[in-house]
Amino acid sequence: MNVLFKGIDLLTMTSEGFLHNVNVAVADGKIAYVGKGMPTGLLTQKVVSGQDKLLMPGLVNAHTHLPMVAMRGYAGDMNLQKWLFDMIFPVEAKWDEECIEIATKLAICESLASGTTSVSDMYFFLEGMARAVSDSGIRANLSRGLSLSEGEDAEEKVADALDFIKRYDNTEDGRLKADLGVHAEYTSSPELWRAVADAYAREPHCIQIHLSETESEHEACKQKYGATPTALLDSYGLITADTLCAHGVYLEEGDMDILAARGASVAHCPMSNLKLGSGVARVPKLIGKGINLAIGTDGASSNNNTDMFAEMKIAALLQKGLCRDPEAVSAKEILSAATVGGGRAQGRDVGCIEAGRPADLVLLDTGSAEMFPALEPYSAAVYSAGPSSVIMTMVDGNVLYEKGEFKSLDREKLKAEFKTKVIPKLYL
Ligand SMILES: [Zn+2]
Repeated sequence: MNVLFKGIDLLTMTSEGFLHNVNVAVADGKIAYVGKGMPTGLLTQKVVSGQDKLLMPGLVNAHTHLPMVAMRGYAGDMNLQKWLFDMIFPVEAKWDEECIEIATKLAICESLASGTTSVSDMYFFLEGMARAVSDSGIRANLSRGLSLSEGEDAEEKVADALDFIKRYDNTEDGRLKADLGVHAEYTSSPELWRAVADAYAREPHCIQIHLSETESEHEACKQKYGATPTALLDSYGLITADTLCAHGVYLEEGDMDILAARGASVAHCPMSNLKLGSGVARVPKLIGKGINLAIGTDGASSNNNTDMFAEMKIAALLQKGLCRDPEAVSAKEILSAATVGGGRAQGRDVGCIEAGRPADLVLLDTGSAEMFPALEPYSAAVYSAGPSSVIMTMVDGNVLYEKGEFKSLDREKLKAEFKTKVIPKLYL
């Protein structure tokens, strides 16, 4: 749909910074014009007045497991090892494609309503997830988080992941990308790392990995292999410019140097790290080292939401409190991580607003109770805004959510299907 945002305040997240009272045109899925004048020769189907509104790039949720909304509110208040092995893995063993599709679609509703336009997700039953991405219109990088237990064949697992990549990568006009993935160092072994590194060397894709999330996992790796997870995986060729490392709570100085040298990205997931009592990543240090920082909500079972506004706010506040320094990180740095940083981590040109880029946009209501008067735009977006401030979410020029309405998904029907199909399957 061709849309003109008229006389609007704009957070570009490019070197242009914040622009007051400009016109932004969207045509054929792309940003067609940004400026004080009026675009010429464009047939506009919808005009949006910029009064009391702020336009910004769609948020990129750089680490999540969307289907886990099915476990929202399940198994709270326990540490990661117990939570994962005793509670989550047994429920996950019952999944099927249909349940995954329903849960993913519900998570996409929540994501769109809270301003997320693109996600990097690691899970399984990816066909069901791909259908949800296709039907909903959201942008996604999907990866199978490969693990390897005794007796399993690494080559076979990687071949299976590559089969999905071959069939789905760069489909849906590029909205859907298929990534490589290693669940974590502690759930896999050298045969798998070698096989994934070989696949990457043959044909590069993003590689999603959980990295140094807990102290126990980080220290156990050092005991077992004599190296940190980062150094170890790097020695197998898995830390690359296309690698997206989730968490990185226990990254050491040397680990950060490796990540910076390779050009890898880190998806900071503060809410999940707090809820599972894992700790707090050293964000100012990561930024200082020049590592590409992104932000993710992680799965809804350790959050309990997929709300990137809440994630940004806690990401900023945590560092200020921990460092006892209100300047430890700025709202602009956090918003940058949640937009351009995420786009870069996904290997995409999303996350900022300039002519020629994909039209992934969020329209905020600065006249709302929680945002008015929005005197400082970065601060307003990070500290004041929430899902209730989101008026419209657009992906690839398509309005997918507007004023409480989902344009591509029937949320009421999905909720009914969740009750009749997913709950009996997973819990009864
Ligand atoms: Zn995760």
